[in-house]
Amino acid sequence: MVSMSPDDAARLRSLLQSRLEARVAQGPQSVAREDVDTSATAHDDDLGPHMAMDQAIASGRNAAWTAETIALAAALRRLEEEPDSFGDCEDCGEPIPLRRLELMPHAALCVRCQATRETGPARRRKVTDYV
Ligand SMILES: [Zn+2]
Repeated sequence: MVSMSPDDAARLRSLLQSRLEARVAQGPQSVAREDVDTSATAHDDDLGPHMAMDQAIASGRNAAWTAETIALAAALRRLEEEPDSFGDCEDCGEPIPLRRLELMPHAALCVRCQATRETGPARRRKVTDYV
């Protein structure tokens, strides 16, 4: 249970909504490119490798775009369906600091659990320290 005030919850909700709307308005990067790519490669084979790389970059952007859009939409749904537990870390259940949520309203993990997921559980610095 997080001690988030209704004002904070409302602020986060509008933050999530505006970010989600901006994402959707921006759209995945490669959709508008596809026509350009096919017509260009038809005329100039030298552009081939460039275009392939371009598309790879675009699809990388798409993956990031998709992941963040899904995360934003999921956070918005969590906030609406379970306002009481919104902002609690998914892994340890501790409240995520409001400042972190303001920067990353779709964050589902506290900084510590996020780091643990990315790098694995905290390890001893040196085994010899404990011998
Ligand atoms: Zn946590």
